Amino acid sequence: MLEVVNISKTYSGEDLGAVNDVSFSLGENQVLALIGKSGSGKSTILQMIAGLMKPDSGHVSFSGEELENPDEQLIAGHSDIKIVFQDFQLKPNMTVEENVKYVLLQFDKQFQEERTAELLQLCGIGELAKRKPNELSGGQLQRLSIASVLAEEPKLLLMDEPFSNLDPLTKENLLIELVDIIKSEALSLIFVTHDTRDAMWIADRMAFLSEGSLIQIDAVQNIYNAPINLEIAGFFGRVNAISDVNREKISYIRAEDCRINEPDQGIGVVVSKSVFLGHQYFNEAINSTNGETIHFYSKNKLKANEETVFLTFDEDKILHFN
Ligand code: ADP
Ligand code: MG
Repeated sequence: MLEVVNISKTYSGEDLGAVNDVSFSLGENQVLALIGKSGSGKSTILQMIAGLMKPDSGHVSFSGEELENPDEQLIAGHSDIKIVFQDFQLKPNMTVEENVKYVLLQFDKQFQEERTAELLQLCGIGELAKRKPNELSGGQLQRLSIASVLAEEPKLLLMDEPFSNLDPLTKENLLIELVDIIKSEALSLIFVTHDTRDAMWIADRMAFLSEGSLIQIDAVQNIYNAPINLEIAGFFGRVNAISDVNREKISYIRAEDCRINEPDQGIGVVVSKSVFLGHQYFNEAINSTNGETIHFYSKNKLKANEETVFLTFDEDKILHFN
């Protein structure tokens, strides 16, 4: 459905490219998460897919049709591709339902009423129809902006950090609802996030960007199991780098894959911190043989600066980078 082919962009006056030769494709009813550090080019890519910015080279096609450049269009963008902006772009003087109905003005009154009610329900704000945007919370505003964009019947929805201003519970609820919205509206979605857990909730694939380049794109589980470098592995949580006795070989192993073993079995470490996380403790410790710091989890609190524990991990959990 969507083909992004070798797109590059350098902002005027900049030496380094913001986006360098990025290519990927997306099928119908698929969800892709774009992940990368701040400044890695995520927003720039989204703008180019939305048809709001012209790539210096390369192109974007949708359903076999090449996207026109913003300066060739009457209205910037593509009718089947819609972007949900971070600042929502809602009409402050209109109520919640009017903000959605406004998009449906070309249809008859009855359809406007029915479709608006349906979209508000779908986005979980059916009860708030008569309120104004300034009477809504951040999460409700996010839902309203999704509802008003859905009224335009896009086939591909683009969202730039849609969850960054939401509290964890609101975010989780919205993520769950997004899965239903995508299904019931037969949508594809590309969203930008820096949290791999968001992506794990709803994305089929993840695409990792680093300094404007796409460095890995694959199914979520494949990336978790075989990240190509330490930066990507680090997006999923703490990774230990453990040297062998000769300091020749380093084994990269996730904190969550280290287990406490019987005394004298495995790597001896002296605990320096043990932090309560609810269902488990997160521990920092010093490897007794080489002084390296190691992180791991435990069921019980460990005594800092006193306790020596022994850690092991399965060989097949060791991460191999190229
Ligand atoms: P991200 O969304 O991943 O944080 P952006 O796409 O916003 O990254 O930015 C990519 C790079 O382009 C960054 O180095 C950023 O500073 C630069 N950049 C973004 N917008 C502009 C602009 N309007 N003018 C000049 N440089 C920009
Ligand atoms: Mg951005």
